[in-house]
Amino acid sequence: MDKNAAKCMPVKCSVTNCTYNDSHLCHADTLEVNSLTGNKAGTSDDTCCTTFKDK
Ligand code: SF4
Repeated sequence: MDKNAAKCMPVKCSVTNCTYNDSHLCHADTLEVNSLTGNKAGTSDDTCCTTFKDK
């Protein structure tokens, strides 16, 4: 197994108006999450899903 391969896991999401949301699960091929406060985040509130696409 490639140690550098990203681990796939179900992503629960409550943003139901996103194109990739189906039954509160994310179905995007890839997911990008970034910090709203530069390169580091202090809490989860400092993070944001930038893959979001409005339906
Ligand atoms: S792309 Fe982001 S906002 Fe959209 S369903 Fe996935 S996790 Fe939620």
